[in-house]
Amino acid sequence: MTMHDKLKKLLLFQIIPKDDPKQELRLRRFFMALGMYAFCVLLAYLSYVANIMEWRPIFVYLVGIPIINISLYIVFRTGLNLRMRDPSLTSIQICIGILVVMYGMYYANEARGLLLLIYILVLLFGIFRLNTRQFLFISIFSLLTYGIDIFLLHTFRPQDVAFNIEYLQLGVLSLVLVAFSIVAGYISSMRQNLNKSKAELEKYVLLIREMAIRDDLTGFYNRNHLMELIEYERNRCARTGSSVFTLAMLDIDHFKNVNDAYGHQTGDQVLKTFAGLIRKTLRGTDFCGRYGGEEFLIVLTQTNIDGAKIFAERILNLIDNTKLTESGHEIKITASIGLAEYKAQEDIEKTIHRADIALYEAKNKGRNRVECS
Ligand code: GH3
Ligand code: MG
Ligand code: MG
Repeated sequence: MTMHDKLKKLLLFQIIPKDDPKQELRLRRFFMALGMYAFCVLLAYLSYVANIMEWRPIFVYLVGIPIINISLYIVFRTGLNLRMRDPSLTSIQICIGILVVMYGMYYANEARGLLLLIYILVLLFGIFRLNTRQFLFISIFSLLTYGIDIFLLHTFRPQDVAFNIEYLQLGVLSLVLVAFSIVAGYISSMRQNLNKSKAELEKYVLLIREMAIRDDLTGFYNRNHLMELIEYERNRCARTGSSVFTLAMLDIDHFKNVNDAYGHQTGDQVLKTFAGLIRKTLRGTDFCGRYGGEEFLIVLTQTNIDGAKIFAERILNLIDNTKLTESGHEIKITASIGLAEYKAQEDIEKTIHRADIALYEAKNKGRNRVECS
């Protein structure tokens, strides 16, 4: 990176970058939590002013909470979180929050019961993301931290604490956490179901889209979609002003005879195989649609009439030299092609009409041949 790039990056520094929606969401959630931390520190400070807490925990909070959050922000912004199993770091952030509450509880004196609410606040961040098992783990962790608090108070400040109330509070916290775990599990299974339905819906939307633009039998585009694509190609050529394209109208010769001799079903099968043959011959940039019963319209992009003629001769040769085996019968078919190169400003219907006339001419001149408009 040059000096200039570095400077540019520095000047364009975004607190929440918008290039990755998932990371953006994570950072937004992080800032929401940060707001709550700030509010809690403010409350802690007020409780110091009101003579409930000593200055020491307030000081630790004022130093520690910014350090914790700056570190978290660096982890998110450097993308370090992406290497973790859960890149949203939900469990880690909740555990940190619980430890912060645990520390405050030790010094909270009469306000200790109130801090139970902050436990709930921290756990709220997990309710939409964690499943029952993870949530139970976090709940047990919370109870453990409260238990440790009670133990430490027993050891170092037994005279300051009414333990009967502390145990009652521990009981209340357990009850609430069990209820929370059940709700969290319910929400997480609902979320999973929703995701599953969404994935299924997307699959069907894709399928329906495919069905709407393709012909069932041959797999080629249907006429409607083909017309849209040709219109698109025409606009592209009009815009660039340089490219050309050519339409090839292909119709199988005496196909009625195939139906008459082998039945309509075998006729269908022949059409299908025939379509596969054409598909293999097309270049990646060309496309083909089923224009009518056994009539196909091929769009040869960036190809003038001379190039198209070479393509048409080749494909007719291939068809002529291929024997299709359907329902135990060896069936030989030929086809005729009419070509029309698109002329600037021409209506696309007009170009198609010219290809049609050329095809008619090819049929009249004996079939199994190409004619140009
Ligand atoms: P030619 O084009 O050489 O003049 O003779 P043709 O016998 O192919 O005549 P035309 O193109 O006018 O008729 C097309 C025939 O193709 C009519 C119909 O029996 C058959 N056909 C059209 N669509 C299908 C289809 O989807 N399945 C089957 N099996 N046959 C079809
Ligand atoms: Mg025909
Ligand atoms: Mg026909």
